[in-house]
This record gives sequence, structure tokens and C-alpha cells, in this order.
Amino acid sequence: MTVSKPAVDFEKLSMRGVTRSYAKSATPALSNLDLELARGEFVALLGPSGCGKSTALACLAGLQPLSNGSIWRDDVRLDTLPPEKRGFGMVFQNYALFPHLSVQKNVEFGLSMRRVPKAQRQERAMRALTLVQLHEHAAKLPSQLSGGQQQRVAIARALAIEPEIVLMDEPLSNLDAALRIEMRTEIKRLYQERGLTVLYVTHDQEEALSLATRLVVLRKGVLEQTGTPQEVYTNPASAYVAGFMGYRNLFSAKVESTGPGKDTAVLAHGTVVHGVRKAASGVAAGAEVSVAIRPEDLIVGAGSTGNSIKAVAEVVEYHGRELSVQARTGPDTVLHLKTNEPVVAGAVLDLGVAPERVLVYPADNGDGTVEPRA
Ligand code: ADP
Repeated sequence: MTVSKPAVDFEKLSMRGVTRSYAKSATPALSNLDLELARGEFVALLGPSGCGKSTALACLAGLQPLSNGSIWRDDVRLDTLPPEKRGFGMVFQNYALFPHLSVQKNVEFGLSMRRVPKAQRQERAMRALTLVQLHEHAAKLPSQLSGGQQQRVAIARALAIEPEIVLMDEPLSNLDAALRIEMRTEIKRLYQERGLTVLYVTHDQEEALSLATRLVVLRKGVLEQTGTPQEVYTNPASAYVAGFMGYRNLFSAKVESTGPGKDTAVLAHGTVVHGVRKAASGVAAGAEVSVAIRPEDLIVGAGSTGNSIKAVAEVVEYHGRELSVQARTGPDTVLHLKTNEPVVAGAVLDLGVAPERVLVYPADNGDGTVEPRA
């Protein structure tokens, strides 16, 4: 039994100059956002809490009015239509199931709203439940299911209306770690099998990287960077994005000299790093900059990297395959690194880092600091 694929009758969904202010005087939660989703894309909207992700989704879904701008599916204007006429399936963090209705009735709900006849409604609900492997639980109440199963019901309900586009707002954040990974795979399977188009809100970098075909990083309601997961992961456009892509070591520094391939940055506590990679233009000698290094790119034993950072291991955590180490390089500076070397707390380390793994950006907040990860 298969659920028929959604009608392929659109090419792209566009948000054009969408602004949403919750109060007239306040900074808009979303500012002049231009966002396009091509049919078949899985776009993850990524950013820390409060950056406007849910607002963007709510504007698309018709749950929040726009203060400015418009929303289009090809040449059909959507923002003037009520939510149920926009053709989206929706899945939320809290499942939003009706507790007094059976699983089957919950899945039928969107079809009832659309006045689908009873027999067809029952058949489509059962097909959607089969898709998420819950057909044997159709007669139960939501409270008789686990959290993961309840979220599957919510997904079945979204798919039962055979939507062209599915909007998901942090659908996995109420699940425990193991279930989250299982459901992530499930969502990816459904996306691939059904040829869906998905807009997926998350603050979880790993979730975004593993699910999406394209990432959109928001910052204070403004688009900061968009690209494939590989592009954003390897070339974060700013220190802010780098902080989100696993560059846990973010600190201010001063550029000592510049030149093709041999820029030198002096970290705030005096360590000199040679041959850094300028990740953004506008970095000149003497400039205050933000430096970003991934924990896994710091090597114990400077070796042939040409860079040598003296540090004292302070906290060593055993993570199975590797150790996670917090090492102090100065009174106010600690570095985080991952290593297979047998480091113990108190050890004096000589850390190396390959020059091309050190990213340098113009100082993010004017003082070399960046906002912390959510
Ligand atoms: P995210 O989903 O990225 O956490 P939100 O879209 O929920 O961000 O919020 C963006 C901004 O809008 C935040 O500053 C938040 O406080 C504000 N905001 C969100 N919802 C409301 C609301 N209903 N009323 C007033 N302000 C809101």
C-alpha cells in the first residue's frame, strides 16, 4: 500500500521581503526576508533561539500576519489565503494531537476540515499511518503511545492531506536522544520516498546538516547565509555561522601582517598563528578580528603545522573514541580540543593547528566577540 505522491504542480515557494513585527516599536522578528524553496528541496532554517525561525514558519503557514512583503507559490499569492487553503502539511514540536480522539481520527482531522468523504478519509488516514508504521495503533488514544509514536502520528496527519510542502517546527526536540536520531532517519526516508518539499526549523546544527539539502541561517530576523550543508560547514560566511557549525573556539585576535597565503594573527593572549585563512574580506593588518577553530582541528604536538600554542590541560573528559579536553592558554582564554593522545589534567600541551583550519573574520560585534550558540 503506498500513498500517492503529492501533485507536482508547483516549481517554487517564495517569501518576498517578508517582515513581521510583533509590536510597532520593537525590532522586527523577521526583516525583509527573501527565501525561495524549489520543489524537492529540504531546507533547514537554522539559528539560535529568538532569531525568527518560528516566526518565518508561522508567517508561511498563515498563523501570523505579515507586517510587510508577500508569499507566493509560483504566481499564486498565498499570504492573503487562510491557513487551510495554502496546501501545507504542518508538524510541530508539541505534536498538537487531540487527546480525546483516536490516532485514526487525529490523522483524519485535516481531511475532515477539507470535507473529504468518510470512506476516502479513512483509507487515506490508514495509508498515512502505514507509512509511519503505526497502522496497528489506529484505534488507540495518543496517551497510549510513546513520545516518538505520537510524533509519528503528527507526521502521518501532515502527510494525509497529501501536501505539496511540509513545514516542520523543531519536530524532534521533545524526544530523547536515541529516539531523535531514529525519527530523523524516518523523516529523511519519508522525504526521499515521497518526493516531498520540506521547510524544517531547528536550532540543532547536526540535525540540519544530516537532513537538509540546503541550509538557511538566520540572525536577528535577517538571512545570514544560505548554501548546501557542505558549503556552510566548510565555509561559514561569518563568525556567527562558524559558531553554529562546530567552531567551538571563537576568540578575538589582532592581525599582525597580511600577504597572499601568509597572514599572521596574534591571538588576544599573545599566541601567534601563522598563515591563517581569511574567511572574509575586509581583514587588514592591525585589524581586530574573530578567529574560529574547530576542537578537532587542534592537534596535540605542534608537529609540522608551523604553529605552536602553549596550553595547560584543565578538564579532560572521556568520550569513548576520543578525549575532549579543555586547555588554558592564558588567564582569560581556554581552548577546546579533541584528541586520541593520552592527555591528563595538568599536562602542559604544545598545540598545533594547520593554518588553513584557522578562520579569520572581521570582528563580529566590533569587539571580536560573537553571540554564543543557543
Ligand atoms: P526562534 O523560532 O528562532 O526561536 P521566534 O520566531 O520564536 O524565534 O522569535 C523571534 C523574536 O520574536 C524573538 O525576539 C521573540 O521574543 C519574538 N516573538 C516571537 N513570538 C512572539 C509573540 N507572539 N509576541 C511577541 N514577540 C514574539
